[in-house]
Amino acid sequence: MISAADLYKLPKAELHLHLEGAIPLDFLARLINRNSPGALATPENLKAGFQFKNFGEFVRKWMWTVGKFRSETDFSDLVLAVAGNLIRQNIVHAELFFSPFDYPPGGLQAEKITEQVLLGAEKARAETGISLLFFADIVRNHGAETAAARVKRLIPFRSPVLAGIGLGGSESGFPNEGFFPAFETAREAGFRVVAHSGETQGAEYVRSAVTGLNAERIGHGIRCLDDPEVTELVRSRRIPLEVCPTSNVKTGVVARIQDHPIRKLIDAGLIVTLNSDDPSFFDTSLNQEIEILIRDLGFSAGDVLTLLKNNLTASFLPEEKKRSILTLYP
Ligand SMILES: [Zn+2]
Repeated sequence: MISAADLYKLPKAELHLHLEGAIPLDFLARLINRNSPGALATPENLKAGFQFKNFGEFVRKWMWTVGKFRSETDFSDLVLAVAGNLIRQNIVHAELFFSPFDYPPGGLQAEKITEQVLLGAEKARAETGISLLFFADIVRNHGAETAAARVKRLIPFRSPVLAGIGLGGSESGFPNEGFFPAFETAREAGFRVVAHSGETQGAEYVRSAVTGLNAERIGHGIRCLDDPEVTELVRSRRIPLEVCPTSNVKTGVVARIQDHPIRKLIDAGLIVTLNSDDPSFFDTSLNQEIEILIRDLGFSAGDVLTLLKNNLTASFLPEEKKRSILTLYP
């Protein structure tokens, strides 16, 4: 019988992880101290500031963090630092969001950030063998027209590493419908498409992500359970959900970890994957999410194993690569 310790050792995939949200706190402290002479940031005092009561506070802290970057070249170093944390968890393949347009106007350039992220991914692969794939996150809050223009700017960078476009930011006030044209452009350009939906808002967002955005996976998607018809839509189309339990508690979407609907999603026949979302902001990791499912939600190691297999099968790795990694699974 498999044990929790075996799960940590398995070669794993993680599918919902934000590059900026995975910033190691020692990396962030170095960035702050280098760019603001006299600052005395430490990983410990930064950690104390990463507390949120709701999604809005989380977004403000996010903007504060990305505001600490002063140079595009910091992004290749960030990719290498994040890759180090993944390798320590035996994560061999990760699909990450990055938000190249989230930096103050007149500051860092999206194209240069993208180049540096791709360079970092190449270096990480050469040095460690880890496979990293990126989605550029189109943030809802800047509106539909900006989103369409941003997708067009990213098309020249499409590659096996910059494989897709994601939709993040505030669902409230920025419904999926406005982003249908941008996503159509992305798909026509050969990008894979995924979207955060049904995280803070209801099942209708999941429906429109599937039928209008044509999302191949849904970020969170937990609110699909509000509507049996939408649950059935996700189930019948076999759209995987990128579930991030701790994230939902830390942003106030779910009151307590014991109330998290992950078991209900599995029981509804959905393809559930397990992820950490913004591990530095939420003081977690994929391995810690495994521990939480076992300790707080009564999962057996075998139950978690099924989710970790889903992480691999729902990834955008080539089928033969998925199969070869899965041969190492019990
Ligand atoms: Zn996310």
